[in-house]
Amino acid sequence: MRLKIVQRTFVKQTDVSYLTHHNPKHTNPHQIDKTTSTKPQIPITRNSSIMSSWLDDDSTFSTDRKTLSQTPYYEPTAKEFGGSGYTPRVSYHYNPDVSRYHYGVRHPMKPFRLMLTDHLVISYKLYEQMDLYKPRKATNEELLEFHSDDYIKFLESVTPDNVNKFASSLKKFNIGDDCPVFDGMFDYCQLYAGASLDASRKLINGMSDIAINWSGGLHHAKKYEPSGFCYVNDIVLSILNLLRVHPRVLYIDIDLHHGDGVQEAFYLTDRVMTVSFHKYNGEFFPGTGNYDETGVGKGKHFALNVPLQDGIDDESYIRLFKSIIEPVITTFRPTAIIQQCGADSLGCDRLGTFNLNIRAHGECVKFVKSFGIPMLVVGGGGYTPRNVSRLWCYETSVMTGQQLNSKLPESLPFRNFFQPDYSLHPNLGDRIDNKNSKKYLENLKNTLLENLRYLRGAPSVAMQEIPPDLQNITNDEEQAIIDKLNRESELDDIEEENRYWVTKKDEARKGELVD
Ligand SMILES: [Zn+2]
Repeated sequence: MRLKIVQRTFVKQTDVSYLTHHNPKHTNPHQIDKTTSTKPQIPITRNSSIMSSWLDDDSTFSTDRKTLSQTPYYEPTAKEFGGSGYTPRVSYHYNPDVSRYHYGVRHPMKPFRLMLTDHLVISYKLYEQMDLYKPRKATNEELLEFHSDDYIKFLESVTPDNVNKFASSLKKFNIGDDCPVFDGMFDYCQLYAGASLDASRKLINGMSDIAINWSGGLHHAKKYEPSGFCYVNDIVLSILNLLRVHPRVLYIDIDLHHGDGVQEAFYLTDRVMTVSFHKYNGEFFPGTGNYDETGVGKGKHFALNVPLQDGIDDESYIRLFKSIIEPVITTFRPTAIIQQCGADSLGCDRLGTFNLNIRAHGECVKFVKSFGIPMLVVGGGGYTPRNVSRLWCYETSVMTGQQLNSKLPESLPFRNFFQPDYSLHPNLGDRIDNKNSKKYLENLKNTLLENLRYLRGAPSVAMQEIPPDLQNITNDEEQAIIDKLNRESELDDIEEENRYWVTKKDEARKGELVD
């Protein structure tokens, strides 16, 4: 068994998420060991006075029955950071509802890729290696931690039926072909943002070492407007949450596109370092991300951009990634990392121009994992759903340290969709000429490493300045959420069963799977 249960009792936290599937490897799930401390172990990287102040805060979600009865608390039996013996506690944050939304028939963003990913994760039985959570939606107050009040009000109010009444707002808020108004748009935003926040809380309270939310990673969203298929920026919200207890957070983005929304949000601070690898030619969306964008003021040198040309291959991408990320981590010394795993950097992506294979993309994630730093893993772009789901399933296996058979399980729903090879690792490379010469990449690397020379002496933070309140939710809202959770918990057994079935809605969507 990978993990040892040291107690199973209530952990005070600002959190109402709950296990949807108890990990069958963990025995006697309902035992409460009253002989052990009721507080989670506080990692050494955190400031104990701040941690204890919010742990003692009574204005947290502590009374819903699900949290009380099912919150697990694990301690790894062996933990050797940086080596093969690193056995992180991995959690998987997924609310199946998030896959049921449609941007539009012709729109390349297909939320059902999340359902495909989940089917693969379940068929490969990776759920046995993780704690599975069905997160609640983010509240308006949580979204307002980053976004403006009028923008969130607009997102909440506008629907396809009343969109004509918002004519003046549509332009103001950049609503159009890329970011259309669709049915349930705000619910969708709350779901994917809620999952990232849930994941960040599991890292903060020490219940997870690696927390995965494939529905998150919408890195383009801005404070006042949506951008590039992204409406609210779950990454920024999660980083803001992590900053309450972590002095330094590193953001790594390997999406095809520049992670502009996250960079912009933290461009002025030295507490968040953003590193983005992406296609850049000055015109390609979003048009930013050249090597000379490095931050401003106190944040100068704390943004790093790796502009790449079409067709980059596995070997050169991995080599460049490792040669930059290793010194970034050892110099900046982050206490938490967010890894954005956008799948549009794969070869054969509907909107992509790179030549990466699934193993190469995963090798980058594996490298970051090897440093043994608490990590939030999110999705992002990715517009060929069958390859997106393959990638994120594979990367889930990387996080849990499992080796998967390349042949897809016979029990996989929609298995025919993965024909003719039925493989987890189809060849996705060699389709596009590699325009990145060895000389270009070498010069780029040297320029970027030069920037790191300014990072010596990573900033430390007076943690007393960090507000202990993690959520700013009113007592009434807290009670409403708790009541709702308790009502829903009665239906949970049925929901768990349903998750394993291909629903009629899924079937109806089958026709869309060929993009
Ligand atoms: Zn992208």
